[in-house]
Amino acid sequence: MSASIQSIRGFADILPDRTPVWRFVEDTFRVLLESYGYEEIRLPALEKTELFARSIGEVTDIVEKEMYTFSDRNGDSLTLRPEGTAGCVRAAIQHGLLHNAQPRLWYAGPMFRHERPQRGRYRQFHQVGVEAFGVEGPALDAELILMSGRLLQALGLDDVRLELNSLGSSEARAAYRERLVAHLQAHADQLDDDARRRLETNPLRVLDSKNPAMAGVIESAPSLLDHLDGASADHFRRLCAMLDAAGQPYHVNPRLVRGLDYYGRTVFEWVSDRLGAQGTVLAGGRYDTLVEMIGGRPTPAIGFAAGIERLVALVEEAGAAPAPAAPDAFLVVADEALESEAVSLAERLRHAMPGLQLRLNTAGGSLKSQFRRADRSGARFALVLGEDEAAAGAVTVKDLRGERPQEQVPVARLADVLGEARQSD
Ligand code: ATP
Ligand code: MG
Repeated sequence: MSASIQSIRGFADILPDRTPVWRFVEDTFRVLLESYGYEEIRLPALEKTELFARSIGEVTDIVEKEMYTFSDRNGDSLTLRPEGTAGCVRAAIQHGLLHNAQPRLWYAGPMFRHERPQRGRYRQFHQVGVEAFGVEGPALDAELILMSGRLLQALGLDDVRLELNSLGSSEARAAYRERLVAHLQAHADQLDDDARRRLETNPLRVLDSKNPAMAGVIESAPSLLDHLDGASADHFRRLCAMLDAAGQPYHVNPRLVRGLDYYGRTVFEWVSDRLGAQGTVLAGGRYDTLVEMIGGRPTPAIGFAAGIERLVALVEEAGAAPAPAAPDAFLVVADEALESEAVSLAERLRHAMPGLQLRLNTAGGSLKSQFRRADRSGARFALVLGEDEAAAGAVTVKDLRGERPQEQVPVARLADVLGEARQSD
């Protein structure tokens, strides 16, 4: 045997025992998002590098050190998408979706960031993202935030908290930036290397530092909320009032800045304490200037992305994961000579009963080993095809989980018997 090949670090396989939870999370999102009028859009995983450099910001963790960038065979610089918003905005502009319309879009799929792999942090991870375009007022922010809360609730997660902030206009941020730099310079001895570098290039990002040694200097920094422009302050006040009216609790966190440059005004995160440092499960905000930055007409917009791995971990921990579906029946073939008959019979049953979950024993073996397989499959019934049964056009139905007496049932009546058993469950 030659040496086996392993997967790439930070790229996880999701095995069949966990895909039911993944599907539960994904299906819950799809149903709820569509009930709010969001339509699915499917986007490529690979885009021109320039798209991300221009939108996320040159001086961010993602663009500086996390992107999977390479030149393809033509020499073009391409990047595996580290997030979904930029590509979604690109597609909306490219296909004219923003003309006289306020599209609400959602998407799901893998994202790629070269980060240090650890619990809740992978190099390929998955997000469900939503983006809503063309609406400036805070009612959209409120509805989107309430929808995100409803999503988490539908997943059975009730111990997550909502953190909320406003980043104001870019002018307000520029003015605040000077005050922040002065504060950080006054405490230069407490800054780590990253912060010292960002002091020059992107000081707001310092507030986003995850380094515990920086907590003090961040805590004592002036608050962006105290320096908002009038229009942003009004937007934020109205948003808070709408959340209050809807009974949605939130915590205003003036240090919340998010790791991407395109946000302005509303930003929010849903955070769990159960995931250690990787506690943010869903995060988003307004990006009213991004469409224009990518070459479209000025169009206000807001969106969020949820990290599926972290949600799956929480759902599993809460024990809210659905059990994997067990088959209705397992067809035992009592005699090898009947294999061909069994294959045809299984097809006839599947045809007669759409949705029937039927496993056919194709691996041979003694009756005993076939019954063991039937039991392990979790099937409700074993259907036995032997010589007698084949001659009579019937199968023997054996109830593996309940009390139904064993009996030979003509194939023509089988649909009734299995159907009854399903209904009485
Ligand atoms: P973090 O602060 O945890 O690095 P972020 O601000 O970089 O997150 P976003 O770009 O806002 O994250 O992505 C939205 C969500 O996607 C995050 O809240 C998180 O749930 C998830 N996410 C981000 N990066 C990863 C990763 N490397 N592995 C798994 N999930 C991730
Ligand atoms: Mg990050």
